[in-house]
Amino acid sequence: MSFLSISTEQLQKWLDEGLKLSQNGHLPTYIPQLAAVDPCGGAVCLQGVAGEVYQVGHVTLRFPLMSVIKPFVLLYVLQEVGVEILGQRVGMSPSDQPYYSWEQLVADGGFPRNPMLNSGAIALCDLMPGNAATERTERFRLWLNEGAGCGLRLDEGVLDSVRSHPNLRNLKLVETLTQAGYLQKPEQSLDTYQQVCCLSGAIADISQLGMMLIQPPPSIAPQHCEQVLEIMLTCGLYEDSPHFAQRVGIPLKSGVSGIVLGVIPQTGVIACYSPPLNEQGHSIAGLWWVETFVQHIRNI
Ligand code: GLN
Repeated sequence: MSFLSISTEQLQKWLDEGLKLSQNGHLPTYIPQLAAVDPCGGAVCLQGVAGEVYQVGHVTLRFPLMSVIKPFVLLYVLQEVGVEILGQRVGMSPSDQPYYSWEQLVADGGFPRNPMLNSGAIALCDLMPGNAATERTERFRLWLNEGAGCGLRLDEGVLDSVRSHPNLRNLKLVETLTQAGYLQKPEQSLDTYQQVCCLSGAIADISQLGMMLIQPPPSIAPQHCEQVLEIMLTCGLYEDSPHFAQRVGIPLKSGVSGIVLGVIPQTGVIACYSPPLNEQGHSIAGLWWVETFVQHIRNI
């Protein structure tokens, strides 16, 4: 498989087709700033391992990563504390529940099922190095920017929006995780989680993050990247993961800001942005683009 045969014209055509499919999608109302974005914004970036990069759409637009940050929180914590300590705080099994599921956490006795769910990501934020949440986030941001060669920044506006509309489901997750002994510093972990979800970038930054998983810098262990890709394949789209693993067959991660990141091992990355979401909280156009591109690449 190679990206080399794709033209910018072809990509532009797909961009327009995908955007047309989004008309019945919704924006996440529980984060007012995300509900206020232009639903017609859209961008796609393809990057291949030979260094080729194609971008179309609103390529300078920046947006918060939301749950697309979760695989990179996992990578960071794997690097910082190692798999043994990490394994005491979060599982690595798929769940058939949505990303915010409290029922799943309770059914598992307070042990988060996997790091792609909010419960698992919050548990991992507790293990991030640093004291205050702001310091933890800043160290993580610098680590990512250096390792992936991208330019993530904290979106203070979206963070204010998240903070001013407390997410009751996440608060319940924190309470249960704390009672079960999986959070040492509950408030700080939730604050860190909220901040890392508000790290923002343009479509090329998202693509660079994905490339780090297949072409890691010397400071990152390749087996940690493998582990992250495996979790993205089995858990990256939550309850929809098995369906897309079968249909598309590559590691994927979505975020409620409208991002879908797809990583094609040994080949390259597809990063997509379009805000309207389906019922499960995935970008409608993003999923369509990923599926269309992967099919196209497989056929050449
Ligand atoms: N920060 C968001 C939340 O906790 C992220 C969810 C998502 O992107 N799926 O709800």
